[in-house]
Amino acid sequence: MSDIIRLLPDHVANQIAAGEVVQRPASVVKELLENAIDASAKAITLIIKDAGKTLVQVIDDGKGMSTTDARMAFERHATSKISSAEDLFALATKGFRGEALASVAAIAHVSVKTRREEDDLGTQLDIEGSKVTGQEPVVTPAGTMISVRNLFYNVPARRKFLKSDSVELRNITNEFHRVAMAHPQIAFKFINNDSELFNLPAGSYRHRIVNIMGSRVDDKLVPLKEETELLSIHGYIGKPEFARKTKGLQYFFANDRFIKHSYLHHAVVSAFEGLLPDKANPSYFIYLDVPPDSIDINIHPTKTEVKFEDEHSIYAIIRASVKHALGQFSIDSIDFQKDTELDLPYEKARSAASAPRIEVDPDFNPFKQTDSRSSNTQKSNGYRPEKSPAWESLYAGLDEDSTMTDENLAFLPDQQAGAKAEQSLFSPEEATNDTNIFQLQRKFIISTLQSGLLVINQNRAHERILYEQLLRQLTVQNGVSQQLLFPISINRPQEEVTILKQLQTELESVGFLFKNLENANIEIEGLPLDLKETDVEPLLDSIIAFQQEELPDGSFSHVDRLASRMASKIAIKTGDALNKKQMEQLIDELFACKEPELTAQRKKVFINLTGDHLNSKFN
Ligand code: ADP
Ligand code: MG
Repeated sequence: MSDIIRLLPDHVANQIAAGEVVQRPASVVKELLENAIDASAKAITLIIKDAGKTLVQVIDDGKGMSTTDARMAFERHATSKISSAEDLFALATKGFRGEALASVAAIAHVSVKTRREEDDLGTQLDIEGSKVTGQEPVVTPAGTMISVRNLFYNVPARRKFLKSDSVELRNITNEFHRVAMAHPQIAFKFINNDSELFNLPAGSYRHRIVNIMGSRVDDKLVPLKEETELLSIHGYIGKPEFARKTKGLQYFFANDRFIKHSYLHHAVVSAFEGLLPDKANPSYFIYLDVPPDSIDINIHPTKTEVKFEDEHSIYAIIRASVKHALGQFSIDSIDFQKDTELDLPYEKARSAASAPRIEVDPDFNPFKQTDSRSSNTQKSNGYRPEKSPAWESLYAGLDEDSTMTDENLAFLPDQQAGAKAEQSLFSPEEATNDTNIFQLQRKFIISTLQSGLLVINQNRAHERILYEQLLRQLTVQNGVSQQLLFPISINRPQEEVTILKQLQTELESVGFLFKNLENANIEIEGLPLDLKETDVEPLLDSIIAFQQEELPDGSFSHVDRLASRMASKIAIKTGDALNKKQMEQLIDELFACKEPELTAQRKKVFINLTGDHLNSKFN
């Protein structure tokens, strides 16, 4: 048999190698930005089209390349940054493997215009699938402009695996944040589909962080500084009340490079121990500087995973300095109640646990003919239920051998329902003209049925009602808006504004009115009817966080997600006391729903304890 091993042709080898370096448009962005930084650029512009699928372009004012170097740059393992193996242990540049441009050129249409300061004319170079298709002298500003078009044009399988534009754009934005935060002394611009997402002037670290994350973070940052023999640390940590349940803003940089390091992350988290509400994540922006020979960057092609020589000591130093910084800002005085979203459920859980008992609505008087309709805090729901088919289906199942009569509706606010209640399981106490509804542990609404007991989870019931109502507003008829006397203004990073912007039509159809939804300073002049002003920020944050989660495509529609987010934010909670009228209304509205049994997240809304159930307990 003849020999069977042969060398792969260059273009195939290049394509395979490209897979390591270039997984998605964001990888191209990272490599090009890093090259511009290595070229000592002072201002860098990133331009993308269609989330980088059509175009990724980086323009810098760095040192440029000679014609020969421009040609060389696209060869595999061609680099100006190291020349020997020892250099690997004293890296002062982002790049050193000499693979990025070769990889990109193997799987895209690339063109370069570049000129060194000292040259009169620059060079233009066009490359397609690793082949140079054009080269000529051009007039061009000093520096380099690289355009990468039609990524993966020759690797359809890879192209198919790209995510939606919004996901890919988010990846690019994350990459941009990381690079820009590591280099505040360089000015950055980021333009997506002709609209400017970021324009970051050169400035301090703090400026850079605030410019990217939004001015709301400014007063929440605690500075951090520590000099030791092993390393120096500077940066900021978020005050504990800045902690979010969603992924925190967590950034580590080592020698001006964004890194991921779960061990050192743990050092920070453990320093926050006891200061954060349950499940909240601290935010941090921590910059480490270590001698280049004490860090190994060459353990992974993307260079975000690194290895430090003495990780245990670094762990201890980071932990101590975070603790120190937290201590200096007298944590004890921080009011943990401030963030209601984080603290309310926690607080309530605790108070309920200390004294388990049945809480009865003080307004409830079973012997009174009419209840005191005193509530004015009750949430209105904009529609009144009819006895819809949902009713029938519910009750049909409860009492097999009785036909549909009014007594089956005994728990209803209908006054006549009480007439037959005498025959119910719990008579004679309940043989009044009043309805038998009460609240248990400020969590459940209990009502008697002829066939037994109906136990409704108040929070879930209201969620279901609101969810269907919001869905209607989003699809059929718009919701009512309450005009605000003073518009609310909210500061969010551009990236989050973009997410909201994509949802603008939907948000408006449920009652939001925006005065400005273009830049970081969002202004809202109208709110959905039942939404409290204090709930607006947490609601928008949760909508944003929800949009940012990567969900399998098509599992939820935009509209569905928005409705379920809003419903869960507005809904009455466990711990809310309800008067009788409110409970009645809730029950009415619940059973007017299309699908009263389940919440939007498919959780059970109520259970029905039948007489048989109860009887079996007494055996
Ligand atoms: P590496 O960055 O690892 O050296 P690359 O493939 O990214 O490898 O780049 C190859 C070489 O091309 C670099 O070493 C550098 O000399 C040159 N180069 C790339 N981008 C630029 C740029 N924007 N300005 C000047 N030179 C560049
Ligand atoms: Mg490089």
